[in-house]
Amino acid sequence: MPEFDYDILVSGGGVAGLTAAAVFGSAGFSVLCVDPAAPVTERDAEGSDLRTTAFLQPSRDLLEFAGLWSRLALHAAPLQVMRIVDAGGPSPEPRLTKDFNAGDITDLPFGWNLPNWLLRHEMVARLLELPNAEFRPGTAFASLFTRETGARVGLSDGSRVHVQLVIAADGRNSPVRRASGIPVKTTRYGQKALAFAVTHPVPHNNVSTEIHRSGGPFTLVPLPDYQGLPSSAIVWMERGPEVARLAGLDEPDFEAAMNERSCGLFGPLTLASRRTVWPIISQIADRMHGERVALVAEAAHVVPPIGAQGLNMSLSDMRTLLDIAQSNPDQLGDRQMLETYHKHRHTEVAARVAGVDLLNRASMIESQPLRDLRAMGLGAIYSLAPVRKVMMQLGLGARG
Ligand SMILES: Cc1cc2nc3c(=O)[nH]c(=O)nc-3n(C[C@H](O)[C@H](O)[C@H](O)COP(=O)(O)OP(=O)(O)OC[C@H]3O[C@@H](n4cnc5c(N)ncnc54)[C@H](O)[C@@H]3O)c2cc1C
Repeated sequence: MPEFDYDILVSGGGVAGLTAAAVFGSAGFSVLCVDPAAPVTERDAEGSDLRTTAFLQPSRDLLEFAGLWSRLALHAAPLQVMRIVDAGGPSPEPRLTKDFNAGDITDLPFGWNLPNWLLRHEMVARLLELPNAEFRPGTAFASLFTRETGARVGLSDGSRVHVQLVIAADGRNSPVRRASGIPVKTTRYGQKALAFAVTHPVPHNNVSTEIHRSGGPFTLVPLPDYQGLPSSAIVWMERGPEVARLAGLDEPDFEAAMNERSCGLFGPLTLASRRTVWPIISQIADRMHGERVALVAEAAHVVPPIGAQGLNMSLSDMRTLLDIAQSNPDQLGDRQMLETYHKHRHTEVAARVAGVDLLNRASMIESQPLRDLRAMGLGAIYSLAPVRKVMMQLGLGARG
């Protein structure tokens, strides 16, 4: 029987990697998590991740299992209604508004929204509580050598560890995925997203609002009050050159532009954070696994930020991997376990990547007749109550 240093090495200490380490650590596996960068865990620090994550209902159970939810619940803003606004007419005004209310399908909100910098803060604290989980920031995955029986991982500090399973949570350019020779299919839209926080005079009442015109959605997601005022996180997607222009505007001009794009909903918005820019792509790996390697999160799939699918799909990866690992711990990381993981996840991941791709393309439309058609489509879906409910369940991940 080979000697293992840890059961699992998690490559990547982003939100996904830290969650994976907390999940498998809480399940009793010994875990080492490595990342070349130390996580930025303060809102206003240079380099902090000002995106937020809307955790949908099914993700909460896994966060509870991982000992994370009790830390996060206090800071979470519930999402009760998803409001879709079409402002695709000749002038930037709302012309069709449809509310999807969680109350139509469940007693709980759709999900809960949390800032990414705070997630990192609480996740690192949780790992410190777990005696069998170790987080080593400042140390990168460097090389991989696998056999049927285990994986030897070289780290950037010159050390090597022998593990049963490597979980690749090291992002869209995943070094572990590349070392395993797993190809990806990438779609580029020429589009970027601005992510930032605002305050506004009109309360959001736990409504998440997605405004469609052209170039991509402008989405306001509820946050807890900030400095005594109602606050929302905004993701504003546009063509790359337009995002560069908006990011370079001085603050009053930027506020004027965002107030035009928000159609005045929630009253005048005031910028309450830095502006950060994120490239938008779709990507899917050909396989969810290599020898002794499981891909999760953006290492396996990337989607545009629409409908809060990205990290929620990642948590589904982890839940599936955990279920398989717990049902037969002796098989951790072996071929059969990883093929089962691939079989359970890849088809669903591919369907969600294709679905979000379609929504994004619809939201980007420039031509007026097609924008009119888009508004008619939204009205038609909404007017059929059973279709509306199925769409909501699909969005939540409550239906495969
Ligand atoms: C604007 C925006 C808004 C979003 N909103 C939502 C939302 O509301 N809900 C949702 O579910 N999803 C959302 N997403 C998606 C979500 O943010 C991502 O899925 C998630 O942040 C990706 O996390 P990750 O840990 O996979 O990747 P990353 O955050 O890229 O983390 C990868 C980590 O790997 C590390 N790494 C790199 N090289 C190495 C190496 N050699 N060794 C070890 N580690 C390495 C990096 O340093 C990094 O820390 C959004 C995305 C965007 C762009």
